[in-house]
Amino acid sequence: MRPYSRVYAAIDLDAVVSNMKEMKENLPPSTAMIGVVKTDGYGHGAVPVARAIDPYVEGYAVATIDEAIILRRHGIKKMILILGVTHESRYGELLRYDIRPAIFQYEKAKALSDLAVKNGKTAFIHLAVDTGMGRIGMKPDKASADMAERMSRLPGLRIEGMFTHFARADEADKAAYEAQYQAYLRFLGYLEERGVAIPIRHCSNSAGIIESLGSNSLDMVRAGISIYGLYPSDEVDREAVKLRPAMALKSVITYIKDMEPGCPISYGGTYVTEKPMRVATIPVGYGDGYLRSLSGKASVLIRGKRARILGRVCMDQFMVDVTDIPEACEDDEVTLIGRDGDDEITVEELAALGGGFHYEMVCNLGKRVPRVYVRGGQIVGTKDYFHDVYEGFGYM
Ligand SMILES: *Cc1c(COP(=O)(O)O)cnc(C)c1O
Repeated sequence: MRPYSRVYAAIDLDAVVSNMKEMKENLPPSTAMIGVVKTDGYGHGAVPVARAIDPYVEGYAVATIDEAIILRRHGIKKMILILGVTHESRYGELLRYDIRPAIFQYEKAKALSDLAVKNGKTAFIHLAVDTGMGRIGMKPDKASADMAERMSRLPGLRIEGMFTHFARADEADKAAYEAQYQAYLRFLGYLEERGVAIPIRHCSNSAGIIESLGSNSLDMVRAGISIYGLYPSDEVDREAVKLRPAMALKSVITYIKDMEPGCPISYGGTYVTEKPMRVATIPVGYGDGYLRSLSGKASVLIRGKRARILGRVCMDQFMVDVTDIPEACEDDEVTLIGRDGDDEITVEELAALGGGFHYEMVCNLGKRVPRVYVRGGQIVGTKDYFHDVYEGFGYM
């Protein structure tokens, strides 16, 4: 039975759990994991993923305070860290929802401390250190260590953790990673000299976890893309951690027709039939996040066989060649991402064909595509973004 008649993304929560177990096995036994569920769990749905991985993580990381609040509102109790910068206007919500911000400026720490004292609360923060990403964070020098020491004496504020982010841990050459990690360790030393203790030290991302980097021996690691069963890059060791892709994208054939030779297909007539052909229409397009740059390049799976895209991908539909799949008929299942029979189409394959990036493809899967959650072969829940409620217009 198909849960939706046009298209849906099936999210395999068993794969998600299996990926967590695989990573755990590749880590030192005392190292805990933070589950990164930013951008709505890399497009997979943050809440169901967070719930599925809860037994395997010490906490969660997101990019924005709104993502953090969504997790809290759905019953997530463990530590939540915001990896980006949180605006001061939202510090009240940090305290109310018990969410950790990344802090690296004294004035911000002071503002949060003042608010915490005023509310009779304690704010927990993680220091962000920029060791070579050039994005956010304090410089790992002695002046920053002095600043961190002053922060550590602020009332109502507790430095709970400190992290840096590796720009090139997914590359075969680990020199850049090593330089960043050494800068982090040196900075930890400066803090120690000043009597500033850091209970939770965390640096590794998915690439670090898979590549068994030295930074895995700190207190925690931050698993992101690997939760969802994708490898950070082609250069990491796929044998070290066996990941299973969690997302499949399924649709149907809405129409099949026979075409004479010489018929143009789709916008611009970039493809013209060369012989008598059987052509199927699929009701998915770039409006669903299926890349237009896959026009004429990618294939889909129908009855376990590959059918290539003919002409341009439209906003809501595209056409494929089913001449060599005579058994194909209207209403047949179509696999855009995932397995059908012995063949599989991966996100990595599509990203490479379309000149895109695999992280981006899953993050940008459209809100017109409902997510269907599967566990033990059963559908355990769904999320339909398109039916989200509008507020303030009086529509309902
Ligand atoms: C996104 C992000 C991660 C996770 O990265 P992956 O490559 O998906 O594992 C970890 N840490 C920070 C700071 C991030 O921004």
